[in-house]
Amino acid sequence: MNKKLIVGNWKMNGGLAANAALLQALKAGLPQGGTAGVAVAVPSAYLAQAQAELAGSPIGVAAQDVSQHEAGAYTGELSAGMLKEFGTRYVLVGHSERRQYHGETDAVVALKAQAALSKGVTPIVCVGETLAEREAGQTEQVVKRQLAAVIHQVGHCVSELVVAYEPVWAIGTGKTATPEQAQAVHAVLRAQLLAATPKAADIALLYGGSMNAANAEQLLAQADIDGGLVGGASLKAADFLTIIAAAR
Ligand code: PEP
Repeated sequence: MNKKLIVGNWKMNGGLAANAALLQALKAGLPQGGTAGVAVAVPSAYLAQAQAELAGSPIGVAAQDVSQHEAGAYTGELSAGMLKEFGTRYVLVGHSERRQYHGETDAVVALKAQAALSKGVTPIVCVGETLAEREAGQTEQVVKRQLAAVIHQVGHCVSELVVAYEPVWAIGTGKTATPEQAQAVHAVLRAQLLAATPKAADIALLYGGSMNAANAEQLLAQADIDGGLVGGASLKAADFLTIIAAAR
């Protein structure tokens, strides 16, 4: 079985002093002989701070977004090459907050994944249905459409992706998918990946959506749940460390 992966998504939270305290607490509390891979997706303004604080630690630095473009007149954007310069190991692409508030389409998300891969930064491709889509019985169709766009774009590099299933109705709401609901969607995604690459079993499939210290163990025990993408609970060192400890 592959090593599990736990990624914290700080979203637009933090500050120099609070970040330093959180990162130091994580470094100090990381289980010895670490069974899970760990990374934190910090706001871009703090990539340099995270890189410096985490130098020599097994905790990886992740970014929350990347431009699909390589360079040029794209005010406010960050390229994959820039992320790489700051030691960024992973970048979230297609987080539902980017899709919802910044109009990111499946096609743009796919280009972002490709841009990241081209610079050796691993994209964490986020997919997930809204509550209305779930209630309309469209969950499978929606997540498969979102993932298909990326698979099509990246071709044989598909095995280098990380995929995160994040039901939109569970993000930041305190409503978690049940382990069975999450596993059912993960199995669909695994089958889709298997059709694209013989290495599908090695692709980390993360669950995200109100994962916390109390529910992580059960979610992470599911056959196709290879880790977690953790928002709110990643801002509290004790809670995030409990989730990391549950990832065996
Ligand atoms: C997220 O931001 O990806 C997320 C899953 O948030 P939360 O854990 O707060 O629901």
